[in-house]
Amino acid sequence: MPTLADRFHRISQTISDASLRSGRPTESVTLIAVSKTHPPESVAEAVAAGIHLFGESRVQEAKAKIPLAPSRTRWHFIGHLQRNKVRQALPLFELFHGIDSLEIAQDINRIAAELGLFPKVLLEVNVAGESSKFGFKPVQLREQIETLISLDRIQIEGLMTIPPAAHEPEDSRRFFATLRELKNRLESEAHLPLQHLSMGMSDDFAVAIEEGATLVRVGTALFGSRSGKAWNASKADTLDD
Ligand SMILES: *Cc1c(COP(=O)(O)O)cnc(C)c1O
Repeated sequence: MPTLADRFHRISQTISDASLRSGRPTESVTLIAVSKTHPPESVAEAVAAGIHLFGESRVQEAKAKIPLAPSRTRWHFIGHLQRNKVRQALPLFELFHGIDSLEIAQDINRIAAELGLFPKVLLEVNVAGESSKFGFKPVQLREQIETLISLDRIQIEGLMTIPPAAHEPEDSRRFFATLRELKNRLESEAHLPLQHLSMGMSDDFAVAIEEGATLVRVGTALFGSRSGKAWNASKADTLDD
């Protein structure tokens, strides 16, 4: 059985190879270790292997887990943020990947002002226009971008996507390319510098890097399979999260 450290080593090698293929230095890509559903012990094991940046997608779970983690860890919120969780979430995370509507962006902006914070966010794009998915449709994002930019507490640092479920990593390539093209377009049309493209998960992060990913969100390939339940699911406070 490979250890977490072995898996981290392999993932780092894949990141490095894919970055070189995309003509970029390895350091241009950052691994986010998606620790959702995994206990604090797994986070500690990852820290011991040299990982410091983690991703969580449920506020209550993260709120319970983060205080139990070594203090040098950093945390990104990668999920859909519910409006009633914004106040609790804002102080916990250094980047919010899943900002998926103007309404949630406006809520974050208002609550951030109350809390004296300037949160960094990525706008989630529903690149394939799937009706079941969260996220801005590309056309909608281009229509709403000026309003989003006017929200003065929010620092928009880039775009994020979760492509449709695929059989092969190659099937996702065109969706990653679409996100990169949209980023380039927004940068020139709205004069908005966008540093990050958050795309690629366990099965397809190499393809995502080839298409320009700067942040890859990897859970299963690092921590093994998930139970599906939040690590602290026995606590009643997660039931509505
Ligand atoms: C769970 C999750 C991941 C990690 O998925 P794996 O396939 O386990 O690597 C990445 N991004 C988001 C938004 C997630 O919710």
